[in-house]
Amino acid sequence: MANSIPPILPTPKTRVLEISAYVPGKSSLNGELEYIKLSSNESPLGASPKAMAALNGLKDNLASYPDGSSFALRKALSDVHDLPIAQLIIGSGSDEILHLLAQAYLGAGDEAIITQYGFLMYPIVTNGAGATPVYAMDRDYRVDVDAILGAVTANTKMVFLANPNNPTGTYIDAIELARLHGGLRSDILLVVDSAYAEYVSASDYSVGQELVSHSGNVVMVRTFSKMGLAALRIGWMYGPAAIIDVLNRLRDPFNINMSAQLAGEAAVRDVEFTQKLNAHNAKWRQWLSAEIASNAIRVLPSEGNFILAIFGDEVDGVSASEANAALLGAGIIVREMGAYGLPNALRISIGSGEAMQKVAKVLKGMVA
Ligand SMILES: *Cc1c(COP(=O)(O)O)cnc(C)c1O
Repeated sequence: MANSIPPILPTPKTRVLEISAYVPGKSSLNGELEYIKLSSNESPLGASPKAMAALNGLKDNLASYPDGSSFALRKALSDVHDLPIAQLIIGSGSDEILHLLAQAYLGAGDEAIITQYGFLMYPIVTNGAGATPVYAMDRDYRVDVDAILGAVTANTKMVFLANPNNPTGTYIDAIELARLHGGLRSDILLVVDSAYAEYVSASDYSVGQELVSHSGNVVMVRTFSKMGLAALRIGWMYGPAAIIDVLNRLRDPFNINMSAQLAGEAAVRDVEFTQKLNAHNAKWRQWLSAEIASNAIRVLPSEGNFILAIFGDEVDGVSASEANAALLGAGIIVREMGAYGLPNALRISIGSGEAMQKVAKVLKGMVA
């Protein structure tokens, strides 16, 4: 026993230890059965009935590998969004696509620009690739194009932009997006994450499609998670052929399982269901925003399927933690925002009409 030297154990790359593990929205209430989950921006109308029906034949095919190219799903996206099929790639959630982009285009010494309240996966994939996240400050909770351009250095390789952004819900319009792209060197990859595109109402919004079509350094990333298929993990990307080729070399050959391919294809083609989700969301997003906005609660204008409510400080009014406790007491789970550096805010997903009325009642009762 004497003089035993501890063995040297496996050590990860140093930047991996910079990562704070992603904490998903709470999904149960201490074993209680009756609760309303408004913490993960899921569809309040469930999944497309056509997507559910598409899964019927699955059990007879469990022994076969899925199509490694997800052809039928890409064909559906190509038809519905009028995009060249060869420039589409499917990921196991858009999270996988973000990881692939970082692995392929970022390494030690490189920098990726992330906005102040940008999606938490961006620093995770950046650090995971060994690169350094550089933050560009927002201006009053809105992405500031000049701050992003000002953060560019000789080491910048990538810019992550969620538009609309999660968790703020705010967006930059088509002109600002084009100005951002125009200000970047052609060797910097602009990742436009349009995860909430299906929910946008603003007429001056651009999903990023045209920018991809007319340049070699922009990709548009999308997801099925917010439109009723979060369980199946499906994301997709439209990008220049050269970038699609790179990601296809790196990804798992069978990264999209058969249930995701079957249900995803049916969901894309069920445009009517997507429109129904959009209409429900637009109605209740506006209703809840107007209902709870007051001197004590600031509601940011949202283009997503959630709103961000900003509370006063502990002295002047209701704090976010008090509001959260009251909501939990009523069986309602929303998302606390400490991990995003917004401890005075709560993100509330747009749910059923009944859920929205309950939220409004609790919050109005607190500030009255
Ligand atoms: C929810 C969300 C995603 C989707 O991630 P998935 O892996 O497809 O579930 C991507 N980007 C943003 C900004 C999001 O809010």
